[in-house]
Amino acid sequence: MERILYIPFDHLHRHYGVLAKADPKTDLVVMVESARMTTGSKWHKTRLFFMISAARHFAAELESAGFTVIYKQAATTIDGLSELPKNYAALPIICAQPSSHRQGASLKEFGVEFVENDFFLTPRELFSQWALTQKNFLMESFYRAQRVRLNVLVENGKPVSGQWNFDKDNRLPPRKNHTYPQYLTHTYDEIDNEVALQLGIEVPVEWATTRAGALRALRNFIENHFAEFGPYEDAMTTDNWALNHSLLSPYINVGLLHPSEVVEAAVNKFEDGSIPISSAEGFIRQLIGWREYINGMYWHLGPDYAQLNHLNAKRKLLPLFKDSTKTQMNCLKHIVSDIEDRAWVHHIPRLMVLSNLALIAGVNPQEFLDWMRSAFIDASDWVMVPNVIGMGVHADGGQMMTKPYAAAGAYISRMSNYCKPCKYDPKKRTGDDACPFTTLYWDFLERHRAEFAGNHRMAQQLAGIDRLSDLEEVQTRARALLAGLEKGTI
Ligand SMILES: Cc1cc2nc3c(=O)[nH]c(=O)nc-3n(C[C@H](O)[C@H](O)[C@H](O)COP(=O)(O)OP(=O)(O)OC[C@H]3O[C@@H](n4cnc5c(N)ncnc54)[C@H](O)[C@@H]3O)c2cc1C
Ligand code: SF4
Repeated sequence: MERILYIPFDHLHRHYGVLAKADPKTDLVVMVESARMTTGSKWHKTRLFFMISAARHFAAELESAGFTVIYKQAATTIDGLSELPKNYAALPIICAQPSSHRQGASLKEFGVEFVENDFFLTPRELFSQWALTQKNFLMESFYRAQRVRLNVLVENGKPVSGQWNFDKDNRLPPRKNHTYPQYLTHTYDEIDNEVALQLGIEVPVEWATTRAGALRALRNFIENHFAEFGPYEDAMTTDNWALNHSLLSPYINVGLLHPSEVVEAAVNKFEDGSIPISSAEGFIRQLIGWREYINGMYWHLGPDYAQLNHLNAKRKLLPLFKDSTKTQMNCLKHIVSDIEDRAWVHHIPRLMVLSNLALIAGVNPQEFLDWMRSAFIDASDWVMVPNVIGMGVHADGGQMMTKPYAAAGAYISRMSNYCKPCKYDPKKRTGDDACPFTTLYWDFLERHRAEFAGNHRMAQQLAGIDRLSDLEEVQTRARALLAGLEKGTI
């Protein structure tokens, strides 16, 4: 053997990362299942199951392809690498650039050499070059440049169908009595059973743990859900847990699918003529726009970004985030219970319900981030940190987004079927049945009035406070709500 190739659990693709140029005759593959992850973290068991089972399957596949693989269980990754047999001690250890600041720093300190991380469509250096030329980091301008650079849905430098952006068509509320196409339940094997048994859970069959399963999930999305993805991508409903979302983020984030394969499948299907442009553009924007932008920002903004708390939010994590029985708010009861069941909800519950509540209730950003990181199947540092700190709770004071995503109950009421059966009324801001989102929205704006006064994008919202005749009552109700939320009685 001439080299050791270290494969982190989110680099699981035979043709990318350090494996792209690997040779079974000269390269020893090492993977480490660290106790820090399996027993030291408070991760959702479904997430742990997915990460461990996908890694064990990948190790087995590499062995079948002729590689010598050492799959070690150790206290930490570094312990695992230090405990390799003595005859390998002199070999260089090579890895693709890791996906988190912390892992990068500890592997570098240990002496691991890095090759470029090509699990994304945008090299880190290229993103930095873009970011350094921007006054503010508008995702839309990055996205348009990506469309041209990657030649996706573009003809002669112009967007196909004449528009870059079909966002306005993609904000429909959920349909009533609609039957959604099925999602796959995945078949499981001995490895899955063993991991589930170890974790003391049933195999969560919603999630595949192999590349073959991930490819099946991709095909199912493209054939059955893609056409209706766009218009309803922001809708929330108790009728169906996934609507037309792709459910592909876990696979893309660990490397079982490469984003280029997903983009290619989507573009090919669109070119067949059966997919409306609003769905095609909406989906492509998520992948070549949002996903790449978020990863680029994570590296551009650096490791200290995760600790920002611009609005000085100090409240402890509310009990309802960890336990769906600790709230009577129908939206949160459903969303948190969906997370308890599957470790997944789509982007609007994450942004406009969970993060929105954390923002307007003044929950400490780092406590909220820790919970989000532990709760979702697709949570990786590079993606959670900018989405939560920047987009979700505005803890960066607007470095990423020009204004906070704060919203009252009216938004949730318009975009979901949660409110009708709820004991609270989304239109009310005072009184015992006032919707907590509505009351806390106004209270939040008033609390931070001085902070937002210089932001012209907030002018309309701030003018709204001046029109409130019952601001004092709102503030009194807000205090009671916050106390109740802390106790888990609201
Ligand atoms: C507060 C908050 C936290 C989030 N945390 C995560 C996270 O930990 N991991 C994660 O993968 N996504 C995260 N997202 C983005 C998004 O919610 C998920 O990618 C999406 O819900 C995954 O489901 P899906 O595969 O069905 O996505 P779809 O709706 O089908 O979208 C397609 C793909 O686009 C990509 N994508 C879309 N939006 C984003 C985004 N904002 N950032 C990065 N990728 C995006 C994902 O790869 C996703 O698979 C977060 C968003 C918010 C607002
Ligand atoms: S009324 Fe308010 S708390 Fe109830 S479901 Fe609607 S938004 Fe949520």
